[in-house]
Amino acid sequence: MNTVADPLRAPVATRLPVADDFPILARPVHGRRLVYLDNGATTQKPTAVIEAEARFYRESNANIHRGVHWLSQHATELYDAARATVQRFIGAARADEIIFTRGTTEAINLVANTWGRKQLTAGDEILITTLEHHSNIVPWQMLCEQTGAVLKVAPVNEIGEVELDGFDALLSPRTRLVAITHISNALGTVNPVAEMVAHAHAVGAVVLVDGAQAVAHQAVDMQALGCDFYAFSGHKLYGPTGIGVLYGRAELLADMPPWQGGGDMIRTVSFERSTYAEAPQRFEAGTPNIAGAVALGAAIDYVQALGMDRIVAHEHALLEHATAALSAIPGLRMIGTAAHKAGILSFMIEHIHPHDLGTILDSEGVAIRAGHHCAMPLMTRFGIPGTARASLAVYNDDTDIAALVTAIEKAQTLFGTRKKP
Ligand code: PMP
Repeated sequence: MNTVADPLRAPVATRLPVADDFPILARPVHGRRLVYLDNGATTQKPTAVIEAEARFYRESNANIHRGVHWLSQHATELYDAARATVQRFIGAARADEIIFTRGTTEAINLVANTWGRKQLTAGDEILITTLEHHSNIVPWQMLCEQTGAVLKVAPVNEIGEVELDGFDALLSPRTRLVAITHISNALGTVNPVAEMVAHAHAVGAVVLVDGAQAVAHQAVDMQALGCDFYAFSGHKLYGPTGIGVLYGRAELLADMPPWQGGGDMIRTVSFERSTYAEAPQRFEAGTPNIAGAVALGAAIDYVQALGMDRIVAHEHALLEHATAALSAIPGLRMIGTAAHKAGILSFMIEHIHPHDLGTILDSEGVAIRAGHHCAMPLMTRFGIPGTARASLAVYNDDTDIAALVTAIEKAQTLFGTRKKP
């Protein structure tokens, strides 16, 4: 790890000149410059995305798939183009392997309620890890209750890594599904997903990857990962809320029953019996978030124009800088120091509850998250109620880290716990 003697002085790589693309960053909060470090919860939106959504409603709005009129066909083309953009972005083999959902949570629930209910029976096993977000735990618990399947949990070590030995030890011919996060939202740990997929496939299990924290921060390729399902949310990728993606391998989707019934997911309907459309329509009942999908396409275009290599280099440099700057604060304990980490810093400050810290930081204009980060079992594993979490995005730079450090020191001064380094 680098030691930065003066946290205010950081290498140039910690800056990407994109802040002007994000209008919200210009608004003050509590009379201070907004320092937005809650990107793990949701990212801010560039003008290109805000405009794409507004432009859709201004110029292209109509319902898709049903209209003979020009505007409906135009809207359908834009929706289909967004699907193709997602397909290319994650290296899916076919556009019909991309299902639009409300987000990661709905994507995971879709798999549980379709593939899961059809495939699992009593005694089958689902393997997850201790790192999982509640949305990659609770749907599987519900599925276990319905089917009699059993949930197994791979451990994490002291620094927040899932060790392959511990993971492998829980794989067996009974393992039907492995559901793992790509990057931990609570600790930033990057899992060795391609290896985990290969090991899971070796026992015949299907693998779902929760990519909510990954797609905005590293290149993601379905062929290289080899997974069967991949879920993510648009709003953590500079896109709108209410739109997300489930990628599913075509062979699996073809064999999955529908979940929600309604318009657009059928082939024929009679009172005796209905037949269903092919994927992805079979899993997109009702009017989807058309404008959201179009704006998600614009978000992906934005990320690709910036260049994933530049994003990765920037966030990595900023993570190293921030890790050194925070670690230099006496009384700060970092939770999660995996060898392979993304831009998430989870920490505790001696004698200050994370919620109190979050409130004091907020009064300084610094937005972080405090709490269990929807990963209560992981907090239990570390014997803590929660952490303070700063999570990075393309528009953050070393001045944000300097503001974070200064605000933490102010909190320590207020609590009378500040020690000289
Ligand atoms: N998984 C992970 C790892 C996440 O970070 C989140 C969001 N915090 C989710 C799942 C759920 O995403 P959403 O609320 O957008 O469905």
